Amino acid sequence: MIKKPDLSGGSEVKDGFWGLGKKISIGFLDLLLPVSCLFCEKTVDRHKLTPVPICQHDEQELPVLRPPFCRLCGFPLGSSKIVSLNQFEQITESVLSFDTPVCGDCRLTPVDFEFVLAGFSFTGPIRTIVHDWKFNRFQPWGEWLAVKLGRLLMDRFASDGWDCLLPIPLYYKKYEERGFNQSNQLASKLGEIFDLPVSRLLYKEFATPAQSALKREERLTNLKNCFKIKDSYRDFFPGKRIIFVDDIYTTGATLKTAARAALTAGAEKLAAIVLARSLPKQAIKSFL
Ligand SMILES: [Zn+2]
Ligand SMILES: [Zn+2]
Repeated sequence: MIKKPDLSGGSEVKDGFWGLGKKISIGFLDLLLPVSCLFCEKTVDRHKLTPVPICQHDEQELPVLRPPFCRLCGFPLGSSKIVSLNQFEQITESVLSFDTPVCGDCRLTPVDFEFVLAGFSFTGPIRTIVHDWKFNRFQPWGEWLAVKLGRLLMDRFASDGWDCLLPIPLYYKKYEERGFNQSNQLASKLGEIFDLPVSRLLYKEFATPAQSALKREERLTNLKNCFKIKDSYRDFFPGKRIIFVDDIYTTGATLKTAARAALTAGAEKLAAIVLARSLPKQAIKSFL
């Protein structure tokens, strides 16, 4: 029998009185004020108490990664790498199958993952939304993005044979500053969608400079061995099949560092789900 770790929440939001007050005031203001789309300023249809500020038209224009994908790292292999959400919905299931080749990078340096699945291209409107979510701390984006991502991955992923989702942790000071961990938010909703438990088994031991400020080759060394296993979860790892969840994949350095910690502790196999991945400038130009 699998010994499951505490899935109840680890260090997730403890808002207390102020958090509750904030939630009430956000909900109350929403009832009074119309919500405008971040992109075109049209008033957004109100179907939730705290709707996300995007209209239906702009939602359909979100940049989605276009199949076929490298079956290991998930990099889009076709000559056009991005489609709008609207176009993606018309792509047939056969193109989404796992029966696709491996990209040049993975052939040279195989990744530690069975697969990496990503939904969106980290560009244009997705960049704006992620900024609003993480830096303006508009938390309703978390669940909304997870639902969209879940839908995009539905035909590419089956949860059988996997034990849990493991969100990439933030350093505690960053967590306190932001008030939430974006990867926890994604993982919580994806766990519901794919019927997998969410286990916060890792913590980040020290702060590292923002990956976005560094060159490709500096990213892996920047992270060193920053991810550690919580002592009480050490016995959980041997033989486990774990899927990491993160928001953005750029060079994969964050996931590789987390993978090292999990494999050293005895994890059997690993995979990853990310909201969005960065693509080379050339690939983005044709879409914008
Ligand atoms: Zn709009
Ligand atoms: Zn690859």
